[in-house]
Amino acid sequence: VVTIDPDRLLTDLRRLRRFGAVDQGVVRQSLTPIDLEARDWLRRRMADAGLDATIDGVGNVIGRSPTDGPALLIGSHADTQPTGGWLDGALGVIYGLEIARAFIQRTDGPPLAVDAVAWVDEEGTFGSCLGSRSYCGLTTSDELATAKNADGVTLTEAWRAAGLDGVAARPEPGRYRGYLEAHIEQGASLERDGNQIGVVTEIVGSRNIAIGFLGQQNHAGTTPMHLRRDAATALVELAHTINLEFRRLAGSATVWTIGRMTVAPGAASIIPGTAEMHLQFRDPDLGRLETLEAVTLQLIDDANADGVVDVTATPSIAPVNPTKLDEELASHLAAAAEQVAGSRWVAMPSAAVHDAMFLAEVMPAAMLFVPSIGGISHDFAENTRDEDIVLGCEALAAAAESILRGEPTAG
Ligand SMILES: [Zn+2]
Repeated sequence: VVTIDPDRLLTDLRRLRRFGAVDQGVVRQSLTPIDLEARDWLRRRMADAGLDATIDGVGNVIGRSPTDGPALLIGSHADTQPTGGWLDGALGVIYGLEIARAFIQRTDGPPLAVDAVAWVDEEGTFGSCLGSRSYCGLTTSDELATAKNADGVTLTEAWRAAGLDGVAARPEPGRYRGYLEAHIEQGASLERDGNQIGVVTEIVGSRNIAIGFLGQQNHAGTTPMHLRRDAATALVELAHTINLEFRRLAGSATVWTIGRMTVAPGAASIIPGTAEMHLQFRDPDLGRLETLEAVTLQLIDDANADGVVDVTATPSIAPVNPTKLDEELASHLAAAAEQVAGSRWVAMPSAAVHDAMFLAEVMPAAMLFVPSIGGISHDFAENTRDEDIVLGCEALAAAAESILRGEPTAG
């Protein structure tokens, strides 16, 4: 059985944190000088481990095992949010490094191939999951040509400044048995239920709808109520109706958010003439996602027909459908979780987007979660107990071995 080195794992995880460390957290946005330093360090760590390590033209760090396939690709993203936690992405990257290293150094079993990867820009500094989508051939030249960060720096400029040519590595044909990604849960359900490992069954899909309201701006004192076309009132009423309807239709994993509301011109003595709100909802079930979307559009139609304010809907971002992860790979993860954590593991959907969503389009993909203390993520306070970090890596390594050996699982 392959064995990982817990001290080496935790040491490398803490070393990666030093690139951009602020308090307990990390500021390491994609393609910044500190991110490029971290990538070069990762490349060297992979090379030290005996992997053939390169940084591709978009910034992905890939460490190829010298062993012939079938291989597993294991990793996650090495970039962070503008103010990020130290484990989001980094955990899965260092798991990939440690497991690839453990397989290379092992002397008591057959040689098995594990390649490690650290994707660039999962967090969307220039484009969400940019590195993994580039690797999978799921970006458009249009998108890449127009992408820029919050400071207005274009992706093309950032690549040029980093000495990168913008051409991604692609999966080596015939090499991969699949992709495994470990990640912190970024939610509180594992901790709440006393579980140490989550085996991810699917990644939720999402819909975003921008809803616009056009009334008539007017004097708040002289305009009688029955003559008003108040955009803000129409917004508040529709938001309330959506909340009531969604509560009725929601499943246990449905979440919805009105994350943005604006009222113009926004003065105490002016009846708002225009208003806008942004509704986002997520669900692991495609059917429910489509029902919620249809219901929203119907409610908007009704508001339009019944009221004095014009209401319009604009789907603001491309719809994301739920991604079913590979059942066979997941059954190996489940068996390995049982082996290291006994009954303290659970099958669960992922409520957040991950690189594995896109890898799943080009090869079988599976994911493993470890608990987040207090469910906190995308925050400097993000953390996971050392014991859980080590246990998750042991489970992933054991699963990698049984997958590569082609061992059947009991389930
Ligand atoms: Zn992440």
